[in-house]
Amino acid sequence: MTLKFEKYVVQAKGLDMIDAILITPQDICFDIRAILKCRWGCDVFVQNSIRCHVRDTTYQERLEMVNNYNNILLLHSHDAHELSKAVINIERMAFLDGYYLAFGIRLCNLCEDCSVKKGHDCPTPLKVRPCDQSFGIDVYKTVRNLGLPCEVLQSKDDIQNRYGFVLLD
Ligand code: SF4
Repeated sequence: MTLKFEKYVVQAKGLDMIDAILITPQDICFDIRAILKCRWGCDVFVQNSIRCHVRDTTYQERLEMVNNYNNILLLHSHDAHELSKAVINIERMAFLDGYYLAFGIRLCNLCEDCSVKKGHDCPTPLKVRPCDQSFGIDVYKTVRNLGLPCEVLQSKDDIQNRYGFVLLD
């Protein structure tokens, strides 16, 4: 892993991320059952929301997209909104640094009050990034293998462990 990406770890900590770890595609556990759960278990998909559109890409294409990167930043937060903001901010920083293919993967929670959830258009559709589940990423297994927490929540008051990815180059 090259030191040149360590700056994004520092920047992520500055954006209040609990953890920020540089990984490779080999650290990501892909399992098509994540898509099974997405298609039949997620209200966002049932609503045909921009938050989970796959833009006419196939699962195989999405796998290939992720696997073509060499360096990925994994972000951990208890706050879905802060996490989405950090993902898009670091993607932008990396892009401006010359990593022109930098790209975030994270179910969009950029706005504290999402207008899409209320049936309205998204005011910033170009900032919406794809959901990790649509890429067949088993987040539980991926982060547990890296020593990070991720448990099935038993109540809405439980502390949430949310994760996002920034594909760097
Ligand atoms: S309204 Fe905000 S949170 Fe909702 S999809 Fe658009 S950018 Fe994301």
